[in-house]
Amino acid sequence: MTIQIHPIKAFNDNYIWTLINKNNKQAIVIDPGQAKPVADYMEEHGLELTSIWTTHHHFDHIGGVMELQEYFPMTHIVAHSEHGVEQDQTIKDGSSVSAWGCSAQVWDIPGHTASHMAYVLDIEGQKHCFCGDTLFSAGCGRVFTGTIEQLYQSFRRLNGLPDETLLYPAHEYTANNLRFGLAIEPGNVAMQQALAQAEEQTAAGACTLPVTLAHEREVNVFLRVDEPSVIAGVKTKMDIEDEERLTIFAALRALKNDF
Ligand SMILES: [Zn+2]
Repeated sequence: MTIQIHPIKAFNDNYIWTLINKNNKQAIVIDPGQAKPVADYMEEHGLELTSIWTTHHHFDHIGGVMELQEYFPMTHIVAHSEHGVEQDQTIKDGSSVSAWGCSAQVWDIPGHTASHMAYVLDIEGQKHCFCGDTLFSAGCGRVFTGTIEQLYQSFRRLNGLPDETLLYPAHEYTANNLRFGLAIEPGNVAMQQALAQAEEQTAAGACTLPVTLAHEREVNVFLRVDEPSVIAGVKTKMDIEDEERLTIFAALRALKNDF
């Protein structure tokens, strides 16, 4: 059995990642901020929505949940208890959820919000990590109700996944994030190449995701906080008290806020 993974576009730059089982025509969506694009896609492809997984409570990730439940009354919701769902539908760090026999480990990777779920799905040994608004390609989420320390620890945890893990962030921010990265590390050739490719893909309306963790380690400054070139780049833009990894991470996030 093969699970296909497809991005459904929503709003300006959201992706609603969709797991599709071709054999039984069932689908699972992650973070449906809008119902209509999902309902249209299900109808067009003759699919039945059976589950909704959410990463955090922001409207652009859950706004379509109730309406989708009306379209598909048998849909099962999987969400954190803070999201106001029934007790038997709540998950926390260490939970696992299933996609047609494939298991997804649930991680709590806070920072963007005080609690933020990620789903690490294993399909025949290949890991697929749906990381919401925590990690974007070449960037990271803003700190809203979580803390920068939490976000830093969440990045460390994600960085412990295998090199070939595929990462599925919930927004198309890749090109802009790479421009920021190059403002910090102008000589990073992998970033220059990734930006050229992302600009080409974005201009063609194509999705730049997923990306491998190995790729992110080369192009995401928030995963590169102990690289001398990143530390030097931060220092050209901001006075910092020390060169601790968390200090560099926090400085990068502050600089990105104003980029
Ligand atoms: Zn968010």
